[in-house]
Amino acid sequence: MTPNIIEAKKNLNQLGYLNLKVDEKLDLVAEIQKLKKEKNAVILAHYYQEAVIQDIADYLGDSLALAKKAAQTDAETIVFAGVHFMAETAKIINPEKKVLLPDLKAGCSLADSCPPAEFKKFIDQHPDHIVITYINCSAEIKTLSDITCTSSNAVQIIESIPKDQPIIFAPDKNLGKYLIKETGRDMLLWEGSCMVHEAFSIERLLDLHKKHPKAKIIAHPESEEPLLKTAQFIGSTSQLLKFVKEDKGEEFIVATEAGILHQMAKEVPNKILIPAPSNEDNTCACSECAYMKLNTLEKLYLCMKYESPEIILSEEVIEKGRRPIERMLSIS
Ligand code: SF4
Repeated sequence: MTPNIIEAKKNLNQLGYLNLKVDEKLDLVAEIQKLKKEKNAVILAHYYQEAVIQDIADYLGDSLALAKKAAQTDAETIVFAGVHFMAETAKIINPEKKVLLPDLKAGCSLADSCPPAEFKKFIDQHPDHIVITYINCSAEIKTLSDITCTSSNAVQIIESIPKDQPIIFAPDKNLGKYLIKETGRDMLLWEGSCMVHEAFSIERLLDLHKKHPKAKIIAHPESEEPLLKTAQFIGSTSQLLKFVKEDKGEEFIVATEAGILHQMAKEVPNKILIPAPSNEDNTCACSECAYMKLNTLEKLYLCMKYESPEIILSEEVIEKGRRPIERMLSIS
């Protein structure tokens, strides 16, 4: 190892990524393709990643699709272009494989809103409740769960639980409230939320809709209730994508992280897709996940070249965290 890489690995915990200079003339896409072959690696990317990363991925999907791909892959190395909890899930399912994440600081406000010590106290106060956790939580929270779910399969998972069994649902209170309505189950909710899906401005959305009265508002269930009430369709990221493909409508206002619009535009190039506006006056006039966007093409290249940063979990976390994920995968 050169002194530069030794130094960069030392600074990893503080920075979250390898801080090394990348030659500007390098064709990073071609280099990443080469590294994939050399290292027998597979790149799994979430729809909220920047467009160039989505385009280079072997598999693109939402949390459920990527969890399933992680469980099926023969590759020796999984490179997760997403956020930390997703890479942890891939490691829990594939403990024998190397799992890389381009930037360890690619976290999640929703996962952070559920600290393990406090959550443990909460569930200890309700010992008769089964614990269902949305996959957007840390590996430690998964070790405290009976079953995980994603926004694609949450209704199915809840309906698989006997009706007289009380349920704790965590960490997303907005998704929890939506699921209570959908399933009619009176669940005890943890008060967590996603800052990206709470950043939409309902006033701006209604103004936008006045300008595009024919547009259908479609939303992710992590959004708040007033916004969900305006939506003609509510679904997970992959369900939203399917909806714009199959629906006869020509114009859609999309209330989820704006990264999904790249894939939607590829699949339905003739339809008009408008990101739902956020409260902030940002450049994209949309709601973007700052954590997801921490992964860049340069960081992806460096993490594959030097096989770092790597997700490391204790055997205990892997063993206890695997049960609720496997239970989910066996149902959905
Ligand atoms: S969009 Fe929200 S839930 Fe998804 S990774 Fe970002 S902060 Fe977490």
